[in-house]
Amino acid sequence: AKPQQQKKKIEGAALIGIDVAKEDDLGEWYQQVITKGQMISYYDVAGCYILEPASYAIWESIKDWFDTQIKTLKVRNAYFPIFISADNLQREKEHIEGFAAEVAWVTKGGKSELEKPVAVRPTSETAMYPYFARKIQSHRDLPLKLNQWNNVVRWEFKHPMPFIRSREFLWQEGHTAHLTKEEAGAEVMQILDWYADVYQKLLAVPVVKGTKTENEKFPGADYTTTIEGFIPATGRGIQAATSHCLGQHFSKMFNIVVEDPAAKEAGKADKIHVWQNSWGLTTRSIGVMILTHGDNRGLVTPPRVAEIQVIIVPVGVTAKTTPEAKEDLYGKVKQIHDDLLSVGVRVETDYREGYSPGWKFNDWEMKGIPLRIEFGPKDAEKGVVTTSRRDLPSKELARGETAVTDLKEAIPKLLDTIQNDMFERADKEYRAHRKQITNWDDFVPALNGKNVVLVPHCEGEKCEDQVKELSARKEEGDTTTEDAKAPAMGAKSLCIPFEQPEGIVKGETKCINPNCTATAKAWVLFGRSY
Ligand code: AMP
Repeated sequence: AKPQQQKKKIEGAALIGIDVAKEDDLGEWYQQVITKGQMISYYDVAGCYILEPASYAIWESIKDWFDTQIKTLKVRNAYFPIFISADNLQREKEHIEGFAAEVAWVTKGGKSELEKPVAVRPTSETAMYPYFARKIQSHRDLPLKLNQWNNVVRWEFKHPMPFIRSREFLWQEGHTAHLTKEEAGAEVMQILDWYADVYQKLLAVPVVKGTKTENEKFPGADYTTTIEGFIPATGRGIQAATSHCLGQHFSKMFNIVVEDPAAKEAGKADKIHVWQNSWGLTTRSIGVMILTHGDNRGLVTPPRVAEIQVIIVPVGVTAKTTPEAKEDLYGKVKQIHDDLLSVGVRVETDYREGYSPGWKFNDWEMKGIPLRIEFGPKDAEKGVVTTSRRDLPSKELARGETAVTDLKEAIPKLLDTIQNDMFERADKEYRAHRKQITNWDDFVPALNGKNVVLVPHCEGEKCEDQVKELSARKEEGDTTTEDAKAPAMGAKSLCIPFEQPEGIVKGETKCINPNCTATAKAWVLFGRSY
């Protein structure tokens, strides 16, 4: 083998396994993990990917959970067409300016040119709001709360990355209309909390909640709230999900009005433009989960979203094992399987002939199954099963024993422990990589050290652009830049975190940007980002 290949090879990696280390080449590692783990298959349209059943199952568990939450708010699901007329798409000026560069257009039907091209939805505000205008005739029609689980297309030219940035992706988009600003605002926050729960409680991925700056808010929104994630391997931030208050921008353009009930009582006839929200969570979430937890053996899936939570592998069956002994062992294995099923554990047993237990272990580890149960004649004798946690790196830490009689209580508990430990570890890492900085000289070195930075900032739009430019310049002799694809990427503002540390004195504390004369308004999280 060539020396380079030797270097990349992971010690002890099985032939079927991942043969590039996450820390050596994240791009190649990611590609191997998602394809060998059977999450993604490639497709011949650039930026589009096949979601295989294993990743779709994760999407379904996110969908089930989130759908249940929004229904408690009386949000109802509906479906709007994928095509948007040019007229509607262009009605809200900021909105179309923000999306124009990414809209895909249908210009032909068969061989004939369409008289008026139609857009493929990049998001559905402009598809839905003419309908809102028709449906909302009186304040009694409010609130109107709709959601759709669908696909959207954003023809982006940035480097595509499965799940993280694709040209077509799956999401839910909620669209609601309210009589008052306060009611709309409360919903924006409730949704953001649930988005944080999807990441933190389901995917075991930590996020920071905050508001987007003017530069980074959704085109056409009053304000955007966001949860910001972090990819430790590159030290880059990632926008995990967003919940927007659109204010009255769209209701003014689409003429969504009701009579003001208060004015009517007073004998006047004032009209109110409704207050609107939109909010979206996409399949990007699965990519963030993979990048956060995956290791050099492949995927690591948190139990709550794993399609299979426990894989049972019968062991110790050899050529010498008698048919009776084998039958006896498999009978006990089936009992273990059924016991776990009966307490709601998603369990499978690997009875495949012709593969060694070792091969099977690697196979299921690559697929990220949170817990393996091994059961052989020796375990049967002792009345135990051997367990092996996927989330722990060393054999010593990962392995344990559980009495067969305790399985129904112990295994669900162990799955909870795995879930919590995965979150705790990721959270600790993210916290360690959020550096609070007040001196510009520390800014770029902190980014190069794979951190995002919390800095005093004036929230000025131009200043933000300057920070990006200044931090993009590669320092002389700097060899620490970590990401070959974006060696000198500038930092943008990720969010203004809701949780603000102390230390900013209004009118006194300087903005971090050395060229900015303004004072800081808040601690703003900046980082290189996806
Ligand atoms: P937006 O409607 O622009 O607020 O987008 C909603 C969410 O979609 C963002 O918060 C991102 O997490 C996610 N997202 C944006 N672009 C993509 C993409 N190309 N692929 C997957 N997810 C995306």
